[in-house]
Amino acid sequence: MPRPYNFSAGPATMPEPVLQQAAAEMLDWHGCGMGVMEMSHRGVHFGEILAQAEADLRALLAIPAHFKVLFSQGGALAHNAMVPLNLAGRHPQRAIDVVVTGAWSQKSAQEARRYGDVHIAASGQAEGFVHIPNPATWQLRTQPAYVHLCSNETIHGVEFHTLPDLAALGCDAPLVIDFSSHVLSRPIDWSRVGLAFGGAQKNIGPAGLTLVVVREDLLGHALPTCPTVFDYRVLAEQQSMANTPPTYAIYMAGLVFRWLLAQQEDGLQGVAAMEARACKRAQRLYDCIDRSALYINPVDPSCRSRMNVPFFLRGDDGQPLRDASHPRNQAFLQGAQARGLLQLKGHKSVGGMRASLYNAMPMAGVEALVEYMQEFERRA
Ligand SMILES: *Cc1c(COP(=O)(O)O)cnc(C)c1O
Repeated sequence: MPRPYNFSAGPATMPEPVLQQAAAEMLDWHGCGMGVMEMSHRGVHFGEILAQAEADLRALLAIPAHFKVLFSQGGALAHNAMVPLNLAGRHPQRAIDVVVTGAWSQKSAQEARRYGDVHIAASGQAEGFVHIPNPATWQLRTQPAYVHLCSNETIHGVEFHTLPDLAALGCDAPLVIDFSSHVLSRPIDWSRVGLAFGGAQKNIGPAGLTLVVVREDLLGHALPTCPTVFDYRVLAEQQSMANTPPTYAIYMAGLVFRWLLAQQEDGLQGVAAMEARACKRAQRLYDCIDRSALYINPVDPSCRSRMNVPFFLRGDDGQPLRDASHPRNQAFLQGAQARGLLQLKGHKSVGGMRASLYNAMPMAGVEALVEYMQEFERRA
């Protein structure tokens, strides 16, 4: 049976060769007689796996030496609390500025209010999260503990194609980004970032593993109430082993990093190749949507996500059909499922459809989706 194309936003599709390798190594990793799940996290074999995963991630994202890589847990939502618990203490009143461009940054702001004095510097909510407010209009404070944004809004399909230069905006603070749903799909300008965090289940591997990449000088400000195993300084000092790390998830992530390093596209390699592919996949789908009379994506083209493409079918009155139970939406989803195009239903807060096009989604998956969408439109 051919593998279906899985457009889920996360947990999401994985590269098939990675799954095959994991299957082959399940009972015996590199002749040591044990599977990775059975190994001591302090042992020499897992030490090798962890060191290689970190080295490969650093190579892929060109992470500078003065940043620490932490293989943490709890998902991105846990770090919505851990980031303020670790960084808010940099400011006497725990001032935290947040730029709200969709559901996830909104959630981050809400959680941070439990730990600090949150100020919404800009928000795209009034327009329904279809654009990123121009950074020149952001009401940033001069020196908050940090500024938070979500660099790819998985639900609303809004992506920062360039990260803001806070210093140029008159704000002397580290930028914190939630990069859960587009990490490793594009290079990162680390000169503009103080801390990046993200769950692995979108574009890397198994749920649970949560990456934190943090500039060294930001460590050591944790509030006394910060759990020890989530104190980023402790995690950094103990090579992500303040407690038992998610060993199998780290191993799987490591296999994905290896796979990424070997990918080529248009003479490019690694993350640059992934970016070239992401552009092609997204362009193909947005072109299909924009040229059709049936489908609509409301997001401003300047900030449309390459990874998560929400779209709506129109009703007979031309208006977007948000309600998933509408017969036209139902027919679309059933027809897609029958062709092995899975998980296209939009997030419940937005409705309609969403196609997530992560690194592991082959171009053939997008071609199959576009072909189906065109055929469905002809029949509608
Ligand atoms: C999925 C997602 C989250 C939530 O991640 P959990 O691992 O479920 O905590 C947070 N932020 C973004 C941008 C996401 O895509």
